[in-house]
Amino acid sequence: MKHHHELYPMLSVEEALEQVLAMFHPLEAEHVPLLEALGRVLAEDIIAIGDIPPHANTAMDGYAMQAADLRNAGPESPKRLRVIENLAAGYLAAERVTPGTAIRIMTGAPLPEGADAVIPFEATQQDGEWVDCFAEMPLGANIRPAGEDIHAGERPLTRGARIRPQEVGMLAALGYGEVAVFRRPRVAVLATGDELVAVNAPLLPGKIRNSNSYSNAAQVLQYGGIPLMLGIAQDTVNDLTAKIHAGLAQGADLLITSGGVSVGDFDVVKKVLAAEGEISFWRVRMKPGKPLAFGRITAEVNGAQRTVPVLGMPGNPVSTMVSFELFARPAILTMLGLTDIHKPTFEAILDQEIPRKDARRHYVRVHITRGADGLHATPTGDQGSGILSSMVRANGLAIIPEEWTHAPAGARVQAFLFEQ
Ligand code: AMP
Ligand code: MG
Repeated sequence: MKHHHELYPMLSVEEALEQVLAMFHPLEAEHVPLLEALGRVLAEDIIAIGDIPPHANTAMDGYAMQAADLRNAGPESPKRLRVIENLAAGYLAAERVTPGTAIRIMTGAPLPEGADAVIPFEATQQDGEWVDCFAEMPLGANIRPAGEDIHAGERPLTRGARIRPQEVGMLAALGYGEVAVFRRPRVAVLATGDELVAVNAPLLPGKIRNSNSYSNAAQVLQYGGIPLMLGIAQDTVNDLTAKIHAGLAQGADLLITSGGVSVGDFDVVKKVLAAEGEISFWRVRMKPGKPLAFGRITAEVNGAQRTVPVLGMPGNPVSTMVSFELFARPAILTMLGLTDIHKPTFEAILDQEIPRKDARRHYVRVHITRGADGLHATPTGDQGSGILSSMVRANGLAIIPEEWTHAPAGARVQAFLFEQ
């Protein structure tokens, strides 16, 4: 039987990614409690309704006074002021500072009326109701004006911003107990193969455990999606179709399959996708992970037509993970509302030669370490597409460009880390 390879275009990673991303857009917004927004993306512009800080306050523990009173004060010529009040943070002063007086004041306390500078404790000595000041203070010294951080009406955060701990803090400072973020995508994960058994089922002769569903679902979680575990489909059109429909019924925004997209006799994923929707099948100029099916499935769910994108990834455990990194991750981040979805890469020195057989971009499992001459990428062993142990030892992938005919030790390559 002839497998018409030439019918399927061989795409670069970028060409394939462009076609994939054309199918995705940010999902609807939802309101979530502030802490649950961590890692999500803002779906609204945040406009400050008040100043931060809301009132002028002291940046130091010290004495609020009038700068003019301390003119010519020095270590040998202190100026003496009368202390009329003791003010903690959180309270307004009852008294007003007038010439010759001071209010003892703690960091963060609102600046008393009449005061125009604060002298820190370190430059003073209190003696009963009097304080000796041993330094001059410029006008405004140690005072944080209202709105020093944010002015009312400003937009400190805008739609599309990723919410990190500092954004959480900013939102809390602005009074947002909940916030609008883009909904997390629900990603259905389906393994295919008659040889697969569930993780806790007995390993019968000829069978292997379904690990892809777990590595893929973990990647979904890592990048902010919600995995829907669809289990294992047998390599039959009927079973695969039924499991895919189950995924759609659960409200999947994206369906990921592994296995069954190559040119073997029982590779039925393409057949099912073609029958149930629209399918592109490509070979992508990458290693591991050459075959990739991509398309959409349309089905009736609860009386309504739904169309869901499908990424059919190769079955080998490393191929499926690398394909996920390159295609599913950007799709998930797009649905989460992120605009900058490209993983940052950096230069590293390859520590061992990587054999080159064909002109595919090679993603090499490496351990990145810092050396005296820069970052080093050390291959973590057997690079076979079924060797998960070299993936376990790796903390990132090094990229050997397709046009390199050889990749010698000492070559400078681009690399990226997994956990980002
Ligand atoms: P396939 O693309 O279906 O031909 O699968 C390629 C290789 O990956 C075969 O050796 C399969 O047994 C293996 N494989 C496929 N799916 C899984 C899975 N879910 N977990 C572990 N190995 C798998
Ligand atoms: Mg298979």
